[in-house]
Amino acid sequence: MLIDFSARIEARQNAWIARRRDLHQHPELGFEEVRTAGIVAEELTRLGLEIRTGIGKTGVIGMLEGDSDGPTIMVRADMDALPIQEENETDYASQTPNKMHACGHDVHTTVALAVAELLSEHRDQIAGRVKFVFQPAEEIGTGAGAMIADGALEDPKPDFALGLHVWNEVEVGKVALVDGPMMAAAGDFTVNVYGRGGHGAMPHDAHDPLVAASQIVTALQTIVSRNVNPVDVGVVSVTEFKSGDSFNVIPASARLRGTIRAFDTAVMELLGNRIEALATGIASAMGCTSNFSVAHLTLPVVNAPEVNAVVRQAIDRVAPELEVLTDYKTMAAEDMSYFLDAVPGTFFFVGSANHERGLDYPHHHPRFDIDDEAVIPLAVNLMASAVAAYVLTG
Ligand SMILES: [Zn+2]
Ligand SMILES: [Zn+2]
Repeated sequence: MLIDFSARIEARQNAWIARRRDLHQHPELGFEEVRTAGIVAEELTRLGLEIRTGIGKTGVIGMLEGDSDGPTIMVRADMDALPIQEENETDYASQTPNKMHACGHDVHTTVALAVAELLSEHRDQIAGRVKFVFQPAEEIGTGAGAMIADGALEDPKPDFALGLHVWNEVEVGKVALVDGPMMAAAGDFTVNVYGRGGHGAMPHDAHDPLVAASQIVTALQTIVSRNVNPVDVGVVSVTEFKSGDSFNVIPASARLRGTIRAFDTAVMELLGNRIEALATGIASAMGCTSNFSVAHLTLPVVNAPEVNAVVRQAIDRVAPELEVLTDYKTMAAEDMSYFLDAVPGTFFFVGSANHERGLDYPHHHPRFDIDDEAVIPLAVNLMASAVAAYVLTG
């Protein structure tokens, strides 16, 4: 049913912005979201939702039961922050050293609570239920899985799942709503190279793992250019190289670590297999040995076109001035992918950068911040209206 939330949003937005700024001042890392989860649980209880706490350690689920039967729509928000020292000097900057909401999860928590507030005011018109899932530990890729393992998708299983991310790669006034794969699967790989250490002046007596590892780094650059089908995409980035600690000692080992990304599971497998084959062959050719391991952190985020169509209608109705990007993709990863692997749904980006105000640093940057005054009311309206399209009756 078509409800116009704008008057309520107008009346409540300052309180929501204040809540976001309070959360921003008190960031908590993955699985440590005790204060945040407490605020979420208290607010959901105040709104009359039934809550379950301690799901996936610090996750919270709030159930808004309608007065009549209908579908179960899940709204997902993440709550965790990052181990970053904030460099912003706003009056709501992080008060905890080396912890910072540098990805916007403070905003997501705020938006989902506000959506719960708006919809709870129409409980008598809800057919079905809205299941609010506040998850821990998105940044380390394991919070969604922990909640699912604790039964977050049962009693009842949602019919559709919705989530959003504020996104500073996109300006305020734009939204990215993409059918199919939108964010990449991510893996964390390690290659250890073992040689024979020795005197820096006598390399002929050593098997230098540092030189072998250097060759491996170079060779890995050929995987995307020579092995991945050019019509597919993939990323292999070596981001850590550790070996040696002296000017005159050839070390006995070297360690490489990095990330692989792709939209497709078969490409992910290819990337891993090629890293292992190149490392093994090069290490062996240089008198060394190697081992390879990979931890798969997330699946690709794949959006269901039928759910996007509902969100698109909501956008066109409540914010027709928005520019909707339908072909935006990023190799960044999200564990929302685990929910979307189990339940059809969508994850969309709400543009949050304001270049004029300097609010456009990238996610995970010590100066990351967003135009919350513009984004919070908009994001709440989009999410509430999309959910309302599924569950609100006249
Ligand atoms: Zn992040
Ligand atoms: Zn994030």
